[in-house]
Amino acid sequence: MASVEIEDIRKQLPNWVKASVPYASSGKVASYIPELSKAPYDALGITLLNTNGEFASAGSCEMNFTMQSISKVFTLVLALMDNGEEEVFSKVGMEPTGDNFNSMLKLELVRPGIPFNPLINAGAITVSSLIHGSSQEEKSERILHFFKELAGNDNLKCDTDVFRSELDTGHLNRSIAYFLKGNGVLSGNVEEVLDIYFRHCSIVVNCADLARMSLVLACDGTDPLTGKVLIPRRFVQIAKTFMTTCGMYNASGEFAIQVGLPAKSGVSGGVLALVPGRYGIGVVGPALNDKGNSQAGVYLLETLSREVNWSMF
Ligand code: GLU
Repeated sequence: MASVEIEDIRKQLPNWVKASVPYASSGKVASYIPELSKAPYDALGITLLNTNGEFASAGSCEMNFTMQSISKVFTLVLALMDNGEEEVFSKVGMEPTGDNFNSMLKLELVRPGIPFNPLINAGAITVSSLIHGSSQEEKSERILHFFKELAGNDNLKCDTDVFRSELDTGHLNRSIAYFLKGNGVLSGNVEEVLDIYFRHCSIVVNCADLARMSLVLACDGTDPLTGKVLIPRRFVQIAKTFMTTCGMYNASGEFAIQVGLPAKSGVSGGVLALVPGRYGIGVVGPALNDKGNSQAGVYLLETLSREVNWSMF
C-alpha cells in the first residue's frame, strides 16, 4: 500500500500543476540553441519518486527533453570519482558567481583564473575535460553509461539534433573553452572537450528519469530501489552543496528561501530537485524566467514545498 504522504500528493498534484501552468505565459523558451526553441512553451510536468519506488506524476511528465545544465551535476560526480577531490578543485572553484552561466568576466578578473564553480559553463567544460577515457568517444560513452545507471534506464541517449544545433552555434562556449586552454586550466584538445560537453548536455530524459537520478542523490549515493552504491557519499555531499548554492543560476538564493531543497535547472526547462532521504523529483516546463529557470516549474516547486512543508531550512 502506498504511504499516506504520496497518496495525498497524488491527489493534489494535478491541481498544483493546473494552477502553475498559467505562469508559463510570462516566460520564454530558450532559443540561443535553435533546436530548443521547438519545445511547447506551456508544457508542465512533474514526477516524484520515493524510496519505496512509489511515483506521483502529473501534467506532461512523459515529455522528452535534454538535460542541459542538469547534466553538470552528474559529470562533476563522475570527474570526482575519476580524479578525486584535490585534483578537481585545483581546476574549479567552490563559489557562486552572481554572473550569467556563460560569463567569462571573472576568469580574467579574479586570480587564479579558474572557473568559480562546476555548475557554470566554464566550470562544467573544465569538468568535461577531466573525465577519464582513452578517446573522446570512450569518455562520452562512460558519461552516458553512468547516467543510464543512475536513471535505471538503459535507453537514455543523446539527441543528435540538439547536439548539432549547439555544436554549430555554441560560439560563447567555444570562446570560454579556448580561454581556459590559454590559461592552462583546460588540457587536451578543445574541440574534443566541447564535443563531450555538448553531448552530455544533449542527453534526453523525461521527468521519471530525473526523479530516479535525484533519488540516488537524496539517498547519499545508494539507489534505494536496487541497493546498489552508485556514488560515494562524500561526492553526493559536494554535489548537493553546489546544487544549493549555485544550482538555480542567479536565483539560487531566492530558490533556497522559497523552496529550500537542493536543485539544478537547465535551459531546456528541466529541474531536478530532491528531498533528502525521501524523494527524487523531476520537473519540466520549457518557458524560462529572466534568471533562466523554468517559470512554471519553479512556481510548482514553491507550491509543493509550501504545501508539504519540505524546506530543509
Ligand atoms: N548546453 C547549454 C550551454 O552550454 C547548457 C546551459 C544550461 O542549461 O544552463 O549553453
